[in-house]
Amino acid sequence: MNSDTEIINKTDLLSLHPEELEELVVGLGEPKYRAKQLFAPMHSGTAPEQISNVGKALKAKLADTCVYSLPIIRKKLVSAIDGTVKYLYGLSDGNSVESVVMKYKHGNTICISTQVGCRMGCAFCASTIGGKIRDLEPSEMLGQIIVAAKDIGERISNVVMMGIGEPLDNYDNVIKFLKLVNCEEGLNIGYRHISLSTCGLVDKIQRLAKENFPITLSISLHASDDATRSSIMPVNKKWSIDKLLGACKEYYATTGRRISFEYTLISGKNDNRDSALRLAEILNKALRSHTDTMPIHVNLIPVNPVSETAFSSSERKTVEDFAATLERKGIRATVRRTLGADINASCGQLRREEERRKVT
Ligand code: SAH
Repeated sequence: MNSDTEIINKTDLLSLHPEELEELVVGLGEPKYRAKQLFAPMHSGTAPEQISNVGKALKAKLADTCVYSLPIIRKKLVSAIDGTVKYLYGLSDGNSVESVVMKYKHGNTICISTQVGCRMGCAFCASTIGGKIRDLEPSEMLGQIIVAAKDIGERISNVVMMGIGEPLDNYDNVIKFLKLVNCEEGLNIGYRHISLSTCGLVDKIQRLAKENFPITLSISLHASDDATRSSIMPVNKKWSIDKLLGACKEYYATTGRRISFEYTLISGKNDNRDSALRLAEILNKALRSHTDTMPIHVNLIPVNPVSETAFSSSERKTVEDFAATLERKGIRATVRRTLGADINASCGQLRREEERRKVT
């Protein structure tokens, strides 16, 4: 949102809560109800200057003091296999991020980005290769949903924050986004239809628990011992598995919301039987007691090979054995269905391709 000084000084309309928008229109000498006339159309993708029941005078004042901007679709790929749609979006300052829309029987789910790049440094992930460029504004997270819904001509009913970036590293903007996307007058997506995935920023998980949103928290675990996890996820050097699972237990105790765990299977690294047994043991030990029966769900994801990294995906049989070992120990395990396999739908890969092209 800050491509030039003009924009820096302007108010980002799509990042405002309904009450903030009211304050703004009142400050511009207009009646409060004007805010309602702006909010709903803006959240369905109509710019203020195109809203018919808003007068010329207010439109002029808004144009002088505010900005309304949506991402532009720079590239769109549609999977011939399952209809998954992947977008490379251009932002107002020229940066780009990705979103993926997956079509399920129960509705459309969008996977959105929360930062331009990422500074978490996970060894297998394409999003982190060039580091973090900047955080996304709440409006830029909403914009990914608004533009995709308009483009497919259908409602998007579920959101997963699993695209580029670490959502809890952009905490305040993500919280604001969550409240906005849940607004009845806006996209009206229920908290129960939203998942937030994190690599494990323990202090922020503790803060999020206190907000008490009924969203689903998803933890990217990817290893069952500290040495292995630290070797692929630098965040583990700051917050060990023990501390992370402690925060998960606390989160569940405060919110009553089940947590799901992501486990990316990397051949020869974290996919043997001992890893699976240890995973079941640490999860059961940290999260279950005789008084507490938190359902534990592990989502197994065969690693998506990224050309800059040397990791390769586990054999199908290894994945099945891993899942069976977890199940035998009372842990629900599912293997992530690969959607959009023909369009490189794993996060960060499209933006990475673009960055590579800029260099060569
Ligand atoms: N930063 C957040 C969300 C973004 S990544 C997080 O770490 O959870 C979404 C998920 O995809 C994470 O579980 C991440 O570890 C995983 N992921 C990243 N690159 C991957 C790859 N090449 N193959 C499989 N999963 C990957």
